[in-house]
Amino acid sequence: MGNEGKKIAKVIVNLSLDRVFDYLVPATLRGVIRAGTQVVVPFGHSQRNGFVIGLKDASGYPEGKLKEIAGLRESHPEVSEPLIRLGEWMSEYYCCSREQAVRALLPGAVRSGRQKRRTLDLYYLNCPVEEAQRFVLEKSSKSPARCAILKVLLGHHGISKSVLLHEAGGGASALPWLLKSEMVEKVSEAFDRDPFRGVEVARTSPQPPTPEQACALGQIEQMIDRKTKQHTLLLHGVTGSGKTEVYLQAIKMILDRGRDAIVLVPEISLTPQTTERFRGRFGEMVSVLHSGLSDGERYDEWMRINNGRVRIVVGARSALFAPFKKLGLIIVDEEHENSYKQDEAPRYHARDVAVMRGLKENACVILGSATPSLESAHNAAKGKYLLSVLSCRVDDKLMPEMEVVDMRQEAIESGSVKVFSRLLVEEIHQRLVNGEQSIIFLNRRGYSTQLICQSCGYVARCVDCSIPYTFHKKRGCLSCHLCGAMRGAPESCPECGGKDIMYSGMGTERIESIAKKIFPSARICRMDSDTMTRRNSYEVALDDFRCGRTDILIGTQMIAKGLHFPNVTLVGIVFADLSLHMPDFRAHERTFQLLTQVAGRAGRGDVRGKVLIQTYTPYNVAIQFAVEHDYEGFFSQEMEIRKQLCYPPCGHLLIVHFHGANEGEVAKSAEHFAEGFSSFSMGRVKVSGPGPAPVEKIKGKFRYQMIFRGHPLKDLKIKLRELALNLKKTKDVRIHIDVDAVSMM
Ligand code: ADP
Ligand code: ZN
Repeated sequence: MGNEGKKIAKVIVNLSLDRVFDYLVPATLRGVIRAGTQVVVPFGHSQRNGFVIGLKDASGYPEGKLKEIAGLRESHPEVSEPLIRLGEWMSEYYCCSREQAVRALLPGAVRSGRQKRRTLDLYYLNCPVEEAQRFVLEKSSKSPARCAILKVLLGHHGISKSVLLHEAGGGASALPWLLKSEMVEKVSEAFDRDPFRGVEVARTSPQPPTPEQACALGQIEQMIDRKTKQHTLLLHGVTGSGKTEVYLQAIKMILDRGRDAIVLVPEISLTPQTTERFRGRFGEMVSVLHSGLSDGERYDEWMRINNGRVRIVVGARSALFAPFKKLGLIIVDEEHENSYKQDEAPRYHARDVAVMRGLKENACVILGSATPSLESAHNAAKGKYLLSVLSCRVDDKLMPEMEVVDMRQEAIESGSVKVFSRLLVEEIHQRLVNGEQSIIFLNRRGYSTQLICQSCGYVARCVDCSIPYTFHKKRGCLSCHLCGAMRGAPESCPECGGKDIMYSGMGTERIESIAKKIFPSARICRMDSDTMTRRNSYEVALDDFRCGRTDILIGTQMIAKGLHFPNVTLVGIVFADLSLHMPDFRAHERTFQLLTQVAGRAGRGDVRGKVLIQTYTPYNVAIQFAVEHDYEGFFSQEMEIRKQLCYPPCGHLLIVHFHGANEGEVAKSAEHFAEGFSSFSMGRVKVSGPGPAPVEKIKGKFRYQMIFRGHPLKDLKIKLRELALNLKKTKDVRIHIDVDAVSMM
C-alpha cells in the first residue's frame, strides 16, 4: 500500500461523533497499522476502541499535541482498505455517521471480539515414519499400548484424543511417554463450528445452457474479461427461465480466474432448497450466512472467508460485506426485493452498495429478477447496465395461463360476497381429483383485519399505533401488526357493552378455515409468520408440500418467491387489490411484481399452470399487464407517471423522519429542522412537508416526515447530514434520514 510507514493515523472512535481524529502511530506499530486496523486510543480521560480509516504524513495539529495510539485490539481482525472506503462512501451517500457505516461492515459477533475460536487438541506423529514403524516392529511385545497408538497415528493425519484412544483400544497411560519422547506431538487447532454438520448435498454438474442462457453467459464473460465498459448486468429472466443456472456458471468463470463470489438472496429465500443448489455445485467452497446461525457459527464463517478458506458466500443483505480480498463477482438475486434496504442506520440498499463495491474492487455485478425494479430497468435502458433477457422457461415450458375473476360480477351472479369464487372452487376441486397441488395466496395474515361493534361502531385499535388490531381467532387475541402488541379479544364491546361484534376483512387464518369447510378431505397447510414460528417449521412445511403430503398451501408472501414445485398447477390469488391501495407511489409496481412472482409458482412441471386472479378492479393496469406477462408495457407506462411526478427512478427520493412521544414536540422539531433550509437553494428539488406520516403513530411514537425528490441531491445531502447529525441528541425527538427510501409510510 505504500503508506504503511506513515506516522499519523486517522481514527474514528466507537462513539457516534462522526469525527475523524488524528493520532500518532508509535514507532513499534509503524508498518503494522493500516486502514482497517482496530486500535485502542486515549480519549479524554479514558480509553476508547476505534478504527483506523487512513494514514498520512502530517496532521493539521502540531505533532507535539497529538496523542499516541495505545495499542492494537487483540483478536479483532482488520477490515480491508476497500471496505473501509466503501463505508466512507456509505456514510456520505446515506447521510449517516461514519461510525454507523463502518459498524455495518462487520457482523456483531466479529466486532465485539467476544467470540473466540474454539480449539481442539489434535495428535500427530512427530518422528519420521520409518522410526515409528521400526518402534512398532521391535517393541510390540514390550510396549503394546505405545505401539498401538503409533500404529493408529501412522494411518491418520491429525486425530483427536477420543478418536485416537478409541481406535487404539485404550492406551491413555502410554500417551505422556510418547509426547515426552517427542515421537508424538499435540497441537491445539482452531476448528469451525460447522453449521452443516451431518448434512450431505448431492453434487450437480453444469447443465448445457439453453440458447438464451448461452447468450447471457457470453455477455457475462465479456463483462468479466473487461471487454465492456459496464461492470453491472441486469439479468431479466421470467420465472423458471434458469437464472440460477446462469449464476452458477458465472461463478465458475470467476473461480477459474482465481477470484471469489458473493451471492445475495432475500432472507426468505435462504432456504435449504436455494442454498443446496450452490453447495451442490461447489461443495465445501460455499459458506452460507443465514439468520439461524449462532454468533459462534457466524464468527467462524466470517473467519473462514477472511482466511480465504471459502470462495463463495451465499447470504442475505449483510453478506455483501464478506471480507474477500479478491472479489470478482457479486450476484443480487431478486434484486427488486425491498428487504435489501436496511431499515436502521446505515439505511443502505444492498443492491446499490453491491454496484458500488463492484466498482471500487474491480468486480462485476449481476442483478437478477423476473420483475426488475424500475430503477434497474431504467439503468439498463440508459446503457448504464448491460441487459440480458431470458424470455422463455427452460424446456419451453409455457408461462401459466392467467385469468381474472371480476369479484363485483361474481357477487351479483352468485348473490352473495364470497371469498372463493365459484371458478376457484371448481379449479381446486379439479386439482384434488387429479392429484395435483394448489397454492392460495393472500398477503395478509390473521383471521380478520378489524373487530367492529355493530351497535356503536367501535373499532378495536392499538393504543400505541394508528391502526386497528388484527383478530387472530385460534389464539383468541387481537394483535397489532405494526408493534406486535397483543391483548385478549373482548367478548363484548368495551365502549357500549354490546354483544354484536363483527369481524371484517380477511386474513390467511380465515381463508384457511373457509377452505377447510369447502374441501373437508383436502390436506391443507397455512404458511405465514403466525404458523411458521419454530426454527425449522418453514422447512418442514415446504418438505411436506414437496413430498405431496399437502394438497393446498395457503400463505402470505412467504410463499410467493423462488419456490419450485413441479406438481403445483394452480395458483389462486384471492384479494389481488390488497397492495394496490397503499398510499405509496410504488403500489402499482409492488402489485405487478407480487402477481407475477406468485403466478410464477404455477406450472413448473409438465402440466401447464393456471393462475386465477380475484379482484374488484380488473381493469387496473398493474393487474392487466401482469395477466399479459407484459413487463415492457408495464415499465413504459409506469415510467411516464414517475417522470411526471419526479419519483424514482426519474428523481431521487429522500425522506427525513421525525419521531417522539410528544406530538407537539415532534411537529415543532420538524418545523425547526425545515427552517434550517430557508436560505438553501433547492434548485430542481421538490420538497413536501414537514407533516404527519401516513402512519401517524407507531409504538407510541408520533411520526412526521419531510420528503425531498428530484436531483441532484448531493449538496442537499451534505446540508441534511450536517443538520441531522448535529440536531439529533438535543431533544427527545429522533431524526433520521432515509435516502432512496423504499417505503413512504
Ligand atoms: P429461475 O431461477 O429463473 O426461476 P431456475 O434456475 O430455478 O429458474 O430453473 C428452473 C428449473 O430449470 C430448475 O429445475 C433448473 O434445474 C432447470 N434448468 C435450468 N437451466 C437448465 C438447463 N440449461 N438445462 C436443463 N435444465 C435447466
Ligand atoms: Zn401497535
